[in-house]
Amino acid sequence: MINEKMKKLGVSRSTIRELFEYGKKLKAERGENYVFDYSLGNPSVAPPDAVNLGIASLLENVRDVELHGYTSAEGDINTRRAIAKYISEAFSAPASYEYVYMTAGAAGALVSVLGALTNENETVIALAPYFPEYKVFVERNGARLKPVMCKANDFTPDVDALDAAIDESVAAVIVNSPNNPTGAVYSEDDIKNLASLLERKSKQYGKPIYIIADEPYRELVYDGKEVPFIPNYYNNTVVCYSYSKSLSIPGERIGYAFVSPRADDAKTVMRAICGAGRALGYVCAPSLLQKLVPSCIGKTSDIKLYEENRRMLYEALTSYGFDLVYPSGAFYLFLKSPTGDAKEFSETAKKYGLLLVPSDDFGCEGYVRIAYCQSPDMILRSLPYFEKLVGEYKKESKNN
Ligand code: PLP
Repeated sequence: MINEKMKKLGVSRSTIRELFEYGKKLKAERGENYVFDYSLGNPSVAPPDAVNLGIASLLENVRDVELHGYTSAEGDINTRRAIAKYISEAFSAPASYEYVYMTAGAAGALVSVLGALTNENETVIALAPYFPEYKVFVERNGARLKPVMCKANDFTPDVDALDAAIDESVAAVIVNSPNNPTGAVYSEDDIKNLASLLERKSKQYGKPIYIIADEPYRELVYDGKEVPFIPNYYNNTVVCYSYSKSLSIPGERIGYAFVSPRADDAKTVMRAICGAGRALGYVCAPSLLQKLVPSCIGKTSDIKLYEENRRMLYEALTSYGFDLVYPSGAFYLFLKSPTGDAKEFSETAKKYGLLLVPSDDFGCEGYVRIAYCQSPDMILRSLPYFEKLVGEYKKESKNN
């Protein structure tokens, strides 16, 4: 019999994907230049040269089956060593290849880590607004997702709300900074406060409550802001990292999970992650991409372009009278619906060819997400339509 839960997931596409597909239809009807698709977080900046050169060099120089063969389940040993070396040098954190598990992107890391750290009926906290797939990943294992809203003024963690929400069923807290969808970057103080709360709660309930640090946007950070490396503040941390956004290669599917060696039972956690990956039939992460990683570590695509997009949109939208939080990282803006109704706002924006994702699936009402990883030309052309869109609400409030 067909599995109902899986059927439902397959039939109902995510709101983001739905909007992206709608955009393709709308472009066919209205013409490419009249549709401004801000739905998907698909990087628009070319990968750094190191990616294409690295792949070409591997194809040219490594001609035996080794290049395309299975690696060990945890991943290629040289790649894992290179990642551990990078972590210890870049973040002055203890690291060893034994605690690095190669995955198909951050998504592959998240499902494996959640599989390892949660049991049926346990709870995983997500700081809201959150990446909608967290709910799917958490529920796959029979656990439940409990959203805890961030502070409304800047979307940083609300430690008092977390304190009230964490009970003994909580196995882990997912922390995503720089954040999708708000662009918030959590400060060192935010992380210290979170760490001391979780230490207290872990002691109270006599078990570790893990932080799962979801970090696909780690390098996408502006204004000289720093992204604290959470294992340096909280021992029971597992980092889920991805090269999708930093190297602009999301379709290639490469990332890793890193267990802090200081975590309680770090070796057992690592074994459980391998077990979860095995149960998912992952076998190993894509071999060619694993072998590319050592030559690309620490490199990024030209992030300045996103920074310029952010400046252009933020300045224009605030000057038109929109209400939005200043984003310090990732490539998203979170814009308040003038009526407080996200779906209505997203529908009205479609009239102007603007595809903005309503926030409800992010576990937060009343906003839309703008993915500004788009061409500067498209952004520039969209600005008059944003102005018309806000004009519609100004007219309404005058008439009322
Ligand atoms: N986590 C967050 C917050 C994301 O925004 C995304 C993708 O957009 C992912 C995880 C998954 O990324 P990946 O392509 O590395 O699987």
